[in-house]
Amino acid sequence: SVLADQIAAGEVIERPASVVKELVENALDAHATQIDVMVAEAGIQSIRVIDDGDGIAEDDVLIAFKRHATSKITSRADLFRVQSLGFRGEALPSIASIADVVLNTSNGTTGTSIHYRGGKLLKQAPAPLRKGTDISVTDLFFNTPARLKYLKSAQTELANILDIVNRLALSYPQVAFRLVHNHKELLKTAGRGDLQQVIAGIYGVQNARKMVAITGESDDYQVTGYVALPELTRASRQYISLLINGRFIKNQQLTKAVIKGYGSKLMVGRYPIAVVAIQMDPLLVDVNVHPTKQEVRLSREPELAKLISTTITARLANVNL
Ligand code: ADP
Ligand code: MG
Repeated sequence: SVLADQIAAGEVIERPASVVKELVENALDAHATQIDVMVAEAGIQSIRVIDDGDGIAEDDVLIAFKRHATSKITSRADLFRVQSLGFRGEALPSIASIADVVLNTSNGTTGTSIHYRGGKLLKQAPAPLRKGTDISVTDLFFNTPARLKYLKSAQTELANILDIVNRLALSYPQVAFRLVHNHKELLKTAGRGDLQQVIAGIYGVQNARKMVAITGESDDYQVTGYVALPELTRASRQYISLLINGRFIKNQQLTKAVIKGYGSKLMVGRYPIAVVAIQMDPLLVDVNVHPTKQEVRLSREPELAKLISTTITARLANVNL
């Protein structure tokens, strides 16, 4: 029902950035190689995501807007094993229940256009066979005024969107991302699989030059990525990014381990820019953690923390300052 969808939306869709996250993750799940995100007024006015992925077959389009109709099986234990990001089948029906949604999609054989507003199907029609999906979300929260009221300033909402797209771009260096806000390009990545190039796109070419590659290995873990030289610091730890098996995560202990790796090279209150990618057996990820939360716990976390800090310490010791 529309009401059930709206209740689900309350959990999945908190703000424009949540819409961006769900739509981009769908594009990634559909094997897109190019994803364009266009937002107006911090996404409050509109959010459009265009991908060149698999598209949706005509017969499946209505199903995609039904709750729990995910085409992607998985248990929570699979979370870090399978590549699919979505698994709850809630995003599209949730978004369609609290906004105006126009979706054009083609799998190369059929092309379909569909229009929902406030959970009501307004129109379905054939569309051109351009393979991929083009989805526009406008009037977000038009029928849930309380939600609308809870939104922060446009600046904050845009910062959240940028943060999400940056993270997804870091997690998928092989996918070309473009983020445009009010016709201004905020991010563009080449999609050639070069992590340092993505870092340059996000933090600037000059800053990327002040970052060095790291690589380390222990019994259970493998660590790669880029960390800033001690001269390149920020006043917040939010520029420390952690990826586990290609998925962005949050973890206090591992973030501390990155900082610890710098030892006394960092001034108090200063933090590095860092992107640390961890490869590990998915079974060592604690599956009891809620799937929608990014905070993740790991078994043998101290081993990994030690690997991260010693890898960074060793790398920085080799740099001529
Ligand atoms: P989930 O991602 O959890 O499966 P969603 O509600 O996000 O659920 O999407 C429902 C279904 O719609 C997906 O399982 C997928 O089959 C289809 N879908 C959504 N967006 C896209 C897209 N951009 N490209 C191809 N298929 C899509
Ligand atoms: Mg999804």
